[in-house]
Amino acid sequence: MEGARPAHQGGGTPPLQVGASGGGIPPFVYQGFPHRVIFGRGRITEAAETLKAVGGNRALVLSTSEQREVAERVAGILGDLSAGAFSGAVMHSPVEVTEEALRAFKESAADSIVSIGGGSTTGLGKAIALRTDAPQLVIPTTYAGSEVTSVLGETSAGAKKTLRSPKVLPEAVIYDVELTLSLPPRLSAASGMNAMAHAVEALYAKDGNPIVSLMAEEGVRALAGSLPTIVRNGGDIEARTQAQYGAWLCGMCLGASAMALHHKLCHVLGGTFDLPHAETHAIVLPHATAYNAAAAPEAMRRLERSLDGAPAADSLYDLLRTLDLPNALRDLGMPEGGIPRAVELAMSDPYYNPRPLEASEIEKLIRRAWSGERPRVDA
Ligand code: NAD
Repeated sequence: MEGARPAHQGGGTPPLQVGASGGGIPPFVYQGFPHRVIFGRGRITEAAETLKAVGGNRALVLSTSEQREVAERVAGILGDLSAGAFSGAVMHSPVEVTEEALRAFKESAADSIVSIGGGSTTGLGKAIALRTDAPQLVIPTTYAGSEVTSVLGETSAGAKKTLRSPKVLPEAVIYDVELTLSLPPRLSAASGMNAMAHAVEALYAKDGNPIVSLMAEEGVRALAGSLPTIVRNGGDIEARTQAQYGAWLCGMCLGASAMALHHKLCHVLGGTFDLPHAETHAIVLPHATAYNAAAAPEAMRRLERSLDGAPAADSLYDLLRTLDLPNALRDLGMPEGGIPRAVELAMSDPYYNPRPLEASEIEKLIRRAWSGERPRVDA
């Protein structure tokens, strides 16, 4: 029944199934982002010169309260370029926290931002940059990928809204693997699968292109190859480096592509039931991949090549199990009675997806993710 319908919805340009197997290359648009990326062990020591290179002379250093110590270390590295630290970042960038941080920014006469942490801290830096146009240096310590996107999700009165603006794109990023060593195995695994989700959806994005597909394939390969090692030994520098490299590539995919069903579902589930961001992505990814498999064959071929050759949805589900992550939304606290509401929200505000959205099929998908079943490609 699906095959008889157009493989896209929402009108406009049909999806690109970018040819990796000798097929033709369809016309495409590629927009590179103006930012500087510094990658390598120990390169946090280059924070001061990097900040100066992007126009910062006095930076407010941001972190969560849990990462206050590392923020203070970064402030020390910045020396005279530090305007002090604000360690109040929390998940989903609530505007009240942004307002508090903005006061600290102004009172300390800061002209720039250094964010050290995961997507939550980067989000706070972006929210300040949106309102002040201050340059940002981000030092990521998870695999979320927010540091290379111009996307910001902000929460106001309990509702999360996402915007894209060049103002929020960080000007510079330092990937120093040593800062990821303290990320606990479960968070590392979940964060890594969150990153892979960006690449999976970039491979069938309506605005996909060959460059982004290369990044996506390599990003998935690097993460799938390193996360199992990290879960066994969080101190394995080589695996951590691979994962960080993969996370950067996947973040670039997120920044360059319009996301589809998977991201919409995670947004809805996380926001409605207050579920942890990365774990929700990890659980939903195999099911969303299965849903779209038949409508995005080229994306699946690429994924299979990057994973272990089995159908991508199965490989992703097996990876989730190997990584010892929860595989059921009910284990994250989602009530079964919330499934109909999640379906309703997932069907609202039409958006592009390679396979048309059908409420009954989306419900089956969410139900499987809720109970932890293996994904079904023929959903
Ligand atoms: P997070 O930033 O919320 O971090 C989770 C916890 O881990 C925090 O307590 C943090 O302090 C701690 N932590 C981070 N790195 C650590 C380390 N190396 N060692 C020890 N503890 C560490 O988690 P996240 O998954 O990176 O980010 C999630 C948020 O980012 C969500 O709000 C999500 O919407 C947003 N996000 C935005 C984008 C975007 O492009 N705008 C992309 C991805 C995620």
